[in-house]
Amino acid sequence: MSGSKEKAEINTDVIIVGAGPAGAAAALILLTYSDLKVTLVEQSDLNDVRVVEHVGSDIFDLLGYLKIAKSAFPEDTFLPCYDQTSYWGSDEPVNAQALFSTDNKAFRLDREKFDFVLLGHVAARGGLVYSRTRCTGFSQGVDHNWQLSLKNRSQGQFNLNGRYLIDACGRKADVCRQVGVLSARHDKLMGVGAFFHFDKPRKLKQEQVMESHELGWWYCARLPDQRQVVAFFSDADIIGQHRLNQAVNWQQLLAQSRHIKLGLKGEAVLSGAPWVRNASSHITHSVLKKNFIAIGDAAASFDPISAIGLGFAMTSACHGARTVQTQLTSTDKLAKQAQLDAYQQEIVDHFEHYLRLRKACYRHEHRWSGATFWSRRR
Ligand SMILES: Cc1cc2nc3c(=O)[nH]c(=O)nc-3n(C[C@H](O)[C@H](O)[C@H](O)COP(=O)(O)OP(=O)(O)OC[C@H]3O[C@@H](n4cnc5c(N)ncnc54)[C@H](O)[C@@H]3O)c2cc1C
Repeated sequence: MSGSKEKAEINTDVIIVGAGPAGAAAALILLTYSDLKVTLVEQSDLNDVRVVEHVGSDIFDLLGYLKIAKSAFPEDTFLPCYDQTSYWGSDEPVNAQALFSTDNKAFRLDREKFDFVLLGHVAARGGLVYSRTRCTGFSQGVDHNWQLSLKNRSQGQFNLNGRYLIDACGRKADVCRQVGVLSARHDKLMGVGAFFHFDKPRKLKQEQVMESHELGWWYCARLPDQRQVVAFFSDADIIGQHRLNQAVNWQQLLAQSRHIKLGLKGEAVLSGAPWVRNASSHITHSVLKKNFIAIGDAAASFDPISAIGLGFAMTSACHGARTVQTQLTSTDKLAKQAQLDAYQQEIVDHFEHYLRLRKACYRHEHRWSGATFWSRRR
C-alpha cells in the first residue's frame, strides 16, 4: 500500500466485494479477457464452514470459459452423486431430478476446495485479494468513481479507489443495501443443518435424499471422510416459533422424519452445533445505479431445492464482468446501455422462470396444503 500519512490509498479499476464463486469468477473474466486492474475484498478469512452443494455438469463449461482445467482441483472436489431420491408428495420414493433439475448428472461440490482454487487463479493472474477486510464506508464522486474505506484485521484502515463497484456479497447483498439499491424478497426461507460423522467405517451410498414435512423439508447428502450433512429448510418465522436453531429441537424434528433419520442409523455422531443459513429468494435491479452492478446471489438468489444457485452465480458473474468491461473500455454510449439492459433483463427472465418452476415443485406436495409453509408456496 502507498499513499498519505493517515490512510494508505490503493487505486484499481474494478472493486469486487465478496470472494465467493461469483466474485472470483468475475475477477477471472476481467483478468483473463481485459487489461483492467481488479481488487477483491472479502470479510472472512476464507475458512468459514461452507455448505455442501450440488451442481450440474455444466459447471465444467463455465470453468473452461474461466480457463481453469478440471485437473487444477484436488481430488474429491467434485464427487459424482449417483442417486437423488425424494419423498415428496407421498411416501413413495421418486427421482429428485423430476422435481426441479434439468441436468441428469449431478456432483457434490466441496466448496472449500473449489473456492480456494478459484482464488488461487485470481492471485496468479494478477488480481489483488484482501481477505479479513471489512468495508466501513462507501462514497461515489460526481465522476461516478468509488472510494471505499476498508479495515483489514492486520493492516488496519485504508482507502480503495475504483472506477466500477461490483456487489458479490451473496444473498444479503450487503453492498446493494449500503449504496441504496433495493432487492425484492420473495420468501424468508432458512436452512438449519448439521454435519454428522460415523466413528466406525461404513459404506455410505453416494446419494442425496429429500423428504417433505408439514413444516418444511429435509435434505441429506453423503460427504467424503465418513461424514453426512443434514439440513432442514423452512421459513424464518416457523424456525423461530419451533426454535429449530436449538440442537435439541432440531434433533427431535429429525427423529420424526421417516426416511432421513434412517441414513443416520449406526452411530452417527453430531459434529458441532447446528448452523443456520439464509436461503431466501430475491432479485435486485442493480444496473440503475451508475458504475455499479450486482452479480451472483447478490443479483438474484434461489431456493436451494432448485440447485441452480451456484451455476447462476458464476454465469451472472461472467456476464456481469463482460458488461463492466464494456462500460469501462467502450465509447459507444448506446452499446453500453444496451448491454446493461440486457444483463438485467437476463436476470429478470431467469428469475421469473425459476419462480414458475418453484411453484410447480412445491405443488407436487399436496398433503399439507393448509399448513403455513406449503400454502405460502402454492
Ligand atoms: C443451505 C444452502 C444450500 C445450498 N445448496 C445449493 C446447491 O445444492 N446447489 C447450488 O447450486 N446452490 C446451492 N446453494 C446456493 C449457493 O450456495 C449460492 O448460490 C452460491 O454460493 C452463490 O455464490 P456467491 O459468490 O454469489 O455468494 P457466496 O457464496 O455467498 O459468497 C459471498 C462472499 O462474500 C463475502 N461477503 C459477504 N458480505 C461481505 C461484506 N460486507 N464484505 C466483504 N465480503 C462479504 C462472504 O464472506 C462470501 O465469501 C445453497 C445455499 C444454501 C444457503
